[in-house]
Amino acid sequence: MGCLFCNVLEKKVPADVVYEDEHALAFKDIRPVAPTHVLVIPKKHIAAIHDLTDADATTIGQVMIAAKKVAEQLGIHANGFRLVVNDGDEAGQTVHHIHVHVLGGRTMTWPPG
Ligand code: 5GP
Ligand code: ZN
Repeated sequence: MGCLFCNVLEKKVPADVVYEDEHALAFKDIRPVAPTHVLVIPKKHIAAIHDLTDADATTIGQVMIAAKKVAEQLGIHANGFRLVVNDGDEAGQTVHHIHVHVLGGRTMTWPPG
């Protein structure tokens, strides 16, 4: 079966890519929940935030920098945007390759559901 987002990285699964660098890939979410909804993933397979080790500091930092660049590139940085990482079942994580949701283009509410 394999990992869905590793398959996106290997171009076995098509994706609408909006940003790529050495450490990260960003592509549009297939079921957007905001006018702008992009997923930023590390090129290294890490299943979840709870699996991170100190050795992943650079990788995860680069993912956050990539998310910031995506927000700028897509023009949602000025009004505000939200980054979300779901970890585990109760948080609603469905794909087990770390991904940062970049959400923008509408007013967000708090607390999240
Ligand atoms: P999670 O629920 O794990 O935080 O987020 C997984 C996200 O991946 C969901 O928002 C879902 O819409 C998205 N997704 C699932 N399968 C695909 C796919 O094949 N392509 C893309 N672009 N997004 C996907
Ligand atoms: Zn993976």
